[in-house]
Amino acid sequence: RNASALGTPKVPNIKWEDVGGLEDVKKSILDTVQLPLLHKDLFSSGLRKRSGVLLYGPPGTGKTLLAKAVATECSLNFLSVKGPELINMYIGESEKNVRDIFQKARAARPCVIFFDELDSLAPARGASGDSGGVMDRVVSQMLAEIDGLNDSSQDLFIIGASNRPDLIDPALLRPGRFDKLLYVGVNSEATYRERILKALTRKFKMHEHVSLYEIAQKCPPNFTGADMYALCADAWFRAAKNKVLGTGSNSSLNDQPDSIVVEYEDFLEALRELSPSLSMAELKKY
Ligand code: ATP
Repeated sequence: RNASALGTPKVPNIKWEDVGGLEDVKKSILDTVQLPLLHKDLFSSGLRKRSGVLLYGPPGTGKTLLAKAVATECSLNFLSVKGPELINMYIGESEKNVRDIFQKARAARPCVIFFDELDSLAPARGASGDSGGVMDRVVSQMLAEIDGLNDSSQDLFIIGASNRPDLIDPALLRPGRFDKLLYVGVNSEATYRERILKALTRKFKMHEHVSLYEIAQKCPPNFTGADMYALCADAWFRAAKNKVLGTGSNSSLNDQPDSIVVEYEDFLEALRELSPSLSMAELKKY
């Protein structure tokens, strides 16, 4: 996909309370984005340099969700680009894509540019093994664009995400660029999973006997947020199916569809069929 084919930036509809757990990261990222917005004069006086955030950690832990939530919370437009989407084999096209992204974001201020898979966009120069030096030029263009965000762009933010921050060109991580590294990981405590389950089932109607804490205790300790999303979606689907089939407490077919009540049993059945997307050993690598 070409950068020009990207959608129009708009404020996402992910709410702050849709992100479960991750309290410290949430606080840090909000400060980084909200403080300069609230205190423009202070931040443009040169006392504080702009700062970009890099969210790193295993897949499915809420990095994208968090970036969207901060944009929603601060009423910022959100422009998302996956690293590989910018790379084009034709000479000059990749740099142009990078320029286009920043141009588009400037036009949509206040705006967040979210660079997913930042490592694939910016592997350390000279190490990418591409003979034509495409990646080197992309990194150079990225650096030029980021450094070019002057005082008048206080309301333009860069957030990156990566599973492999070690592969990112160190120049991109220097002060004023993606200089705020925030780890987004998995916590093996049940209370932590409970908070994510709470966020995910925020809009569910649940039977009064459902204890999210008990469900959290039954989940493997290496369950990621994405695994818990799968669990909740499957539990809801089972409840909906029971309603159609006329079993369980959803047996009245005259009920409105929005009155599907998810039961403890639905979660247990869903849990039995699910296995963690990352093993303990894989998780420890991040
Ligand atoms: P990737 O590295 O694969 O891009 P990611 O860290 O960006 O992963 P997300 O796309 O944010 O992961 O998460 C995938 C889905 O998992 C989310 O849409 C959400 O439904 C669920 N999820 C993950 N983490 C959380 C969380 N902390 N709270 C609530 N839901 C979560």
